[in-house]
Amino acid sequence: MPDSCCAIGCTNRRGDKPGLCFYRIPSEKENPERRRLWICALRRASVPGEGKQWQPSKYTRLCSEHFIKALTFASTMKNFLSFTSQTAA
Ligand SMILES: [Zn+2]
Repeated sequence: MPDSCCAIGCTNRRGDKPGLCFYRIPSEKENPERRRLWICALRRASVPGEGKQWQPSKYTRLCSEHFIKALTFASTMKNFLSFTSQTAA
């Protein structure tokens, strides 16, 4: 079975695009903090129709497109924060 991305609205599968990577969500044991952040970022708090907290399985994969977006967002925020602190000083 090919890996497919678990993000809502994302239909990327392994082999779809050149350079696309798939990442496994860290397990509770490996890195609970990062796991929580990933679940939070995915905004899949509940499974429709089931009403319970969505939990990634060990087969859940997330494609690299979301990481590129997250990194872009983080650097934008950093620039924004340094800009505002300079303005305030
Ligand atoms: Zn994706």
